[in-house]
Formats: sequence, C-alpha cells, structure tokens
Amino acid sequence: MATVVLLLLVVGAFLALGMARAPMWAWAVAVGLLTLLGQSGALDGAEAAGHGILSWLAWLPFVALSLLSIPSLRRSLIVAPVFDKVRTILPKVSDTEAQALEAGTVGFDAEIFSGTPDWNKLQSIPPIQLSAEEQAFLDGPTHQLCAMINDWQVRHSLREIPEDIWDFVKKNGFLGMLISKEHGGLGFSPQAQSLILGKIASRSPDIVTIVMVPNSLGPGELIEKYGTDAQKHHYLPRLAKGEEVPCFSLTGPTSGSDAATMRDIGYVMRGTYQGNETLGVRLSWEKRYITLGPKATLVGLAFRLFDKDNLLGKGEDVGITLALIPADHPGVNIGRRHLPSGAAFPNGPNWGSDVFIPIDWIIGGEKMAGNGWRMLMECLSAGRAISLPSSATAGVKMMLRVTSAYARVRKQFGLPVSRMEGVEEPLVRIIETAYVNEAARAMTAAMVSRGERPSVISALMKYQTTEKMRRAVNDAMDIHGGRAICDGPSNYLQSAYQMVPVGITVEGANILTRTLITFAQGALRSHPYLYKEVQAAQNPDRARGLDAFEDAFDNHIAFSLSNATGAFVHNVTGGALVSAPDHAQRMGHWYRQLARASRSYAFVADLTVALLGGGLKTKQKITGRMADALSELYMLAATLKRYDDDGRPAGDDHIVTLAAKNALHRFQEAIGGTIDNFPAHWARPLMRAVVFPLGRRFKPASDALGHKVAKHVLQPGEARDRLTRHIFISKDVNDPTGILEVTLEKVIAAEPAEKKLEKAIRDGIVRRYHGIDWFADAETKGVITAAEAEQLREVESLVARVIAVDHFDPAELKPNYVTPGHNLRGNEALAAE
Ligand SMILES: Cc1cc2nc3c(=O)[nH]c(=O)nc-3n(C[C@H](O)[C@H](O)[C@H](O)COP(=O)(O)OP(=O)(O)OC[C@H]3O[C@@H](n4cnc5c(N)ncnc54)[C@H](O)[C@@H]3O)c2cc1C
Repeated sequence: MATVVLLLLVVGAFLALGMARAPMWAWAVAVGLLTLLGQSGALDGAEAAGHGILSWLAWLPFVALSLLSIPSLRRSLIVAPVFDKVRTILPKVSDTEAQALEAGTVGFDAEIFSGTPDWNKLQSIPPIQLSAEEQAFLDGPTHQLCAMINDWQVRHSLREIPEDIWDFVKKNGFLGMLISKEHGGLGFSPQAQSLILGKIASRSPDIVTIVMVPNSLGPGELIEKYGTDAQKHHYLPRLAKGEEVPCFSLTGPTSGSDAATMRDIGYVMRGTYQGNETLGVRLSWEKRYITLGPKATLVGLAFRLFDKDNLLGKGEDVGITLALIPADHPGVNIGRRHLPSGAAFPNGPNWGSDVFIPIDWIIGGEKMAGNGWRMLMECLSAGRAISLPSSATAGVKMMLRVTSAYARVRKQFGLPVSRMEGVEEPLVRIIETAYVNEAARAMTAAMVSRGERPSVISALMKYQTTEKMRRAVNDAMDIHGGRAICDGPSNYLQSAYQMVPVGITVEGANILTRTLITFAQGALRSHPYLYKEVQAAQNPDRARGLDAFEDAFDNHIAFSLSNATGAFVHNVTGGALVSAPDHAQRMGHWYRQLARASRSYAFVADLTVALLGGGLKTKQKITGRMADALSELYMLAATLKRYDDDGRPAGDDHIVTLAAKNALHRFQEAIGGTIDNFPAHWARPLMRAVVFPLGRRFKPASDALGHKVAKHVLQPGEARDRLTRHIFISKDVNDPTGILEVTLEKVIAAEPAEKKLEKAIRDGIVRRYHGIDWFADAETKGVITAAEAEQLREVESLVARVIAVDHFDPAELKPNYVTPGHNLRGNEALAAE
C-alpha cells in the first residue's frame, strides 16, 4: 500500500513539474530523488539495491539532465543540432506568406493555443457598445433603408439595385462608414459597421453587398490607411459621399484563391499623361468577378510591378502593387455583368492592355510600390472579421425569426409543425447557431473596434459563420416545405438561399480558409513560440539565429511538457482542477471544460506542427479538423462571454448549456478525428492516452434540453427578441415578413378559442370544409363566443396569407434579361482583339 502511495506521489510530482513548466535543473533534482528512492527499495518494497553495474546505470538520466541543465552544454549538445536540422528541413516561408503571417494580430486564439486561457483577457473584451450617433444611425437611416427595400423587385423584376436605393445610401453616407470624419466619412467603429451591415443583410443580401464592398477591403480603406495626402484629400470625401463608386480588382481567370500569382503586370516607364511626359506605369490586366465593377467610377487594381531600369530604386521585380484608376481612363474596359447566383448587385470583369497611368496613382505613391500584398493582408485581417460574419450572422437571426414564427403558425395533423419533434430538431439547430454566431460576431467586432486585426480569428469567423448560415438556410427551407421552394414576392427565404454560396466563396473560399489559413498558417501565428523558431531558423546569420532559436526552443519544450501533463491531468479529473472566473456562477463548469479542452488542443496542435512540419499545407484533412476544433473553442468562449455581457438572462442558460455541450462534442469529434487519422501512426496512442485517458466523454445536448430551448424561443417575447436583436423586423401586414410577425401574435392570442373550436371539430360537433362557415356554426352551437369567432376569422385570413405562395402568368416568367450567346469574357476574347 505504502508503495502504491509513494508511486502515486512520484507520478504526481512529475505531472506537477510538467504543468509548472519546471526548469531542467528541477527535473534533474526530481529524477535524482527518484533514483535514490528506487535504490533504497522504497518503491518496490525490496531490499536496498547493491552497487552493481545496473544501479550505476540507473543514475544516467540524472547525470544527463544535470549536464543539460548547464546552458552551454545544452546549447552544443541539443539546441544547435536541432537548430541546424530545422534549418535544412523547414520549407522556406515565401515573401507573400510571410506578409500574410505578419499582417494580423493575435487575440483570444493565442489563449486557446496556450492551453491556459486567461479569463481576464476574455472579460476585458468590451460588450457591444455604440456611440449615440451610431445607435441613431442604426435606428434611423438603416431602418429607413431596410423599409425601402423590396427584395423581389430588386432580385427579380429589376435584377438591378434601384436608383432610389443608390441615392439613399450615397446621401446618407452608408458608403463611407469606415472613412474618418476628418475626410468626410461617418468614421463609425467596426462594431457599428457590423451591426449596420447585419441589419441591411437581414433585409436584402443584394443591398448589403453594395454597402459592404466600399466599407470592406477596397479603395476607401486602402487610401485611408496608406494613401498619400493628395489621394486622401481628393478621393476620401468623394467616396464618402458616393460621388465615386469604388471596386477592387484582385481576382483574375487564372488567379483565384492563389491571387498572388496574378499575371496582371505593370512596367515602370516614362509616358505621356494629359500632354505631359511623366513617370508612370504601363499596365495590362484581366480581372473577373469584381463586385461593383460594372457600376464603378474608381477601379482599385492589384498587379505585379517590374522596373527594368530601376527608376524607383527598388530593383527589377518591385512586387505586388495597388493603384487607383478612374474607370473612364483611356484603355480601361469595364465589361458586362456576371450573374452570380441570380444576384442583382453589379459584378463583372474588367481589363486593359498597355494602359499608361501616372506613378502617383499607385496607392500610397511611389514609396508604397511593391507593398501591395502586405497592404491587402493587413486590411483583410480586419475586414474579413467584420463584413461576412456580420451578414451571415444576421442571416441566421432572420432565419430564426421567420422560421420560429412560420413553424408556430403553420399547422398540419392538427398541430403547429413546431410541435413535431422532427421539426424541433432543425429549429433548435437554428436557435443555437443564432446565439453562438451573434456571440462570436459581437466579440470579434469588439476586438477589431479596439484596434486588433486578428488574422486567424477573422479566417475562422469567415468560414464558420458563412458555413453555419448555409446550414441554417437549409434548415429554414426544410421547415417551410413548399412555401420556401416556390419563389415570388412573398418568399422571404429564396434570396438568402441563392446568395449563401457567394459568402462562402468570396474573401477566401471556405475550403481554403478552413484547411489552409485557419490552422496551417494560424498555428504559426497563434502559437507562442513556433513562429519565433521559424524566423530564427530562417535568419541568414546563423549565430544570431541560434541565439533567438535557443530562447524559443527552451520555452517550447517546457510548454509542450506542460501541455502534455496538463491535458492528461485535466482529462483524468474532468477539468475539476481548473479555475473558472469568479463571476462564472452556473456556467463555471463550462469555463472549466473550455480550459480543459484548450489544454488538449494545445497539446495536439503542438505535436501536429512538430511532426507534420512542411507537410501541414498538404495534410488538409488534419488541418481542417484542427481549424474546426479551434473554432469550436473560440466560439464557446464567445458564447460564455455573451451570457455574462447580457446579464445572464433567465432561460438563456438552457441555450448556453446546449451550445456548450454541442460545441465540446464537436470539438471532441474534430480532435478525435485528427488523432485517429494522424499521419505519424506511432503518435496516435500517445495522443489518445493524453486526450482521451477515460474515453470520449463529451456528449451532445440531449433531446430534452433541446425541447426546453425550443419552448423558450417559440413564443413571442424577450427571449425571441434577444436572439434576433439588431435585425430588421417589420410589423407591416403588407410586408412578407411583417405579416408573419403580426400573425404569430394573433395566433397565440387566439389559442384558447382555437382549442375550443378544434375540440368541437374532433368531436364532430362542427365541420370544417370548403363552403361551410364553421366559425358561425361554432358560435351558434355555443362552442365559442361571437368575439372569439371574430378573432378566429381574422387569424384564419392572416394564416391563409402567410401560407400562400405566389403564382404567375407564364408571360411574367419569360427571361427578358439574358441575351443568349456571348456572355463569356475570357482569354480567347482578349486574344481576338
Ligand atoms: C460573387 C463574387 C464576388 C466577388 N467579388 C470580388 C471582388 O470584388 N474583387 C475580387 O478581386 N474578387 C472577387 N471575387 C473573387 C473571389 O475572391 C474568388 O472567387 C475566390 O478567391 C476563389 O477563387 P476562384 O473562384 O477562382 O476559386 P479557385 O481558386 O478556383 O478555387 C476552387 C476551390 O478550390 C479550393 N482551393 C483552392 N486552393 C486551395 C488550397 N491551396 N487548399 C485548399 N483548397 C483550395 C477553394 O477553396 C475552392 O473551393 C468574387 C467572387 C464572386 C463569386
């Protein structure tokens, strides 16, 4: 017995050393003591060992660790050989990759990679805060804009953004939300921009696109951040007022996801502009998919710049460069329009051949030539965190608003379809997504508002929110049945269904963003030591590189040991030893589980990077799962924070518990999938022993909990309003979503009368068939009062309108818009010119 206790104490001591990131000498002392104990016979209850060769050999680990505690010896025996090995095997990080890596900041993602998230950092992220002016804009012009929009007219009848909408957004400054006040813009915070974009998105994906693009990666932001004074003074006020409509052209036919390989080219040379000889650039390019392109007056263009005669003093290959070109400049061709997912927002190709522009049209002027990729990546880190997450989150909230109402109003088999368990299941998925996406959106926007440019978080937010929007739209469609499938003015789901793929594809198509950007690049960025090691290994000066490497390497070893031991301990103890924030109260358990999962994540991430190394870019089934695992933990942190920020409203704890259970279960699936498929087979048992010492313990939320959540949200009231906050809600019976809101309230108010009528119908007292006035019949037979009959009549006619689908004269459906034939603009077309 004493031996077992002693053994447990020894194991405990080693685990504690690992978790405490003990220095090498502490390990040496511990091993020395262990050897001493072993030799005294205390561990196995035997007689003290003699002085044979074996007992001397047993001291070898102690001797080795003691020697390695001497810095100079450790350096020459371990660090330097590892450093030299790393230098030879490490794939070179290209310039464009390095610029992408260095462009953003790290945020709460680093806490997850650390394995020991700091709750103070989570709490220090501000809740949603808007200035009085921003709030007034959200409640005023944004609301007005939403009320003006007729989605069917936009996407079907006109297939064009109506002029009155353009005028309104320009006049009210929507196109200059990110432009500073100093330059005539609204100067709104990213949080405000996110909420404004979201509200518009809840009404029309087309209209939000025309507002989003000028407020996202494009001329406005690039000029504001990098422009010369002349460019700022000339363009920013004009962009802010909508006197210029901008577009930004990066993608071309041969360079989509791999945009940096663009073939668009500029040569520095002297040429003539407005009759004067001047230094400039001769450009040839071909771009496609450019949003606002067909309407743009100002084309932002990315191209590769060469300077044969070194006129700029930056060498021959200057690098990717960005310029601003007026759309009416001679040689600029603004093509016709693409038709992306039937959208009405302008999108099309543009091209030019040997177009001369003055050198000061380069964004930031001559000095910024060659810095284009860095400029784009810096803006993308922030922009990607705002634009698509805002609209995708608002989209899910809208799905929840309309689907929860429709499912309550629509009856089959004598019951609202929402009462059917099969319908409740997707409905609860939408509720969970609406809560979690909004939590993560708000937290991320708050981080950007305080100046962060979170590159990894923005990538995971982009793919997670748009992907979850896709699932929510599908769930909403399924719950609506045929009502969602038949298009027309009263269909409020089709535009979201059609446009979801646009969000999935733009700003880094989701497959690439998930598998390549979030983890493969993200691990380098968010890991506390890895990028420092990579940078050190790439230092051309070996001595300086080794110095930097040694520091990071020593810390990295302690970090890895701490994660391995910490993950094991927390997984054995179910997270009981982790501390939760003081205020966590009922959610303390989930904070602890989050910290526990984060330890496991840090451990597996570390091994993944160490063992796959340069293979990370190709082992995308692994990196994709690791991206999912990271996302789940980030979004769970946001969910817990939202609950606190909202003041822990009664009833929401069911949603938070459900979301936490599901998130941890999905996390477990992702990390378990990584381990089961890990390319280095020998590492799998080790990973399993640390991460799942007692098996896969996280279970998804139960059906019963899902039912509680659904009940909480299906009634009109605070909970439903909170889940769908900041979207446009109409109460106009002539609006396709407004009539749903009005009907839901009346249906609920009429429930008692309806129950009486339904019973009478079931009992055969009243018959409900075409041609019979069953309300009058029920009133005559004393089943319901006259007032109740009136109430039910009104409900019946409202419900009839809600469930109605549109029908058309065949002539109305003729495709008037598409001219058959040549709507391709490709290389063949260029060659033919
Ligand atoms: C409606 C719309 C609007 C747009 N607006 C603009 C705009 O205003 N300005 C602009 O410059 N561009 C714009 N784009 C272009 C958009 O950014 C690109 O479509 C996007 O970058 C993907 O490029 P691609 O379509 O050529 O797909 P491809 O690059 O051909 O990719 C095909 C698939 O392969 C995947 N993939 C590619 N490489 C990898 C990899 N290494 N690892 C894993 N998966 C990979 C992608 O994720 C994708 O799923 C727009 C596109 C659309 C459809």
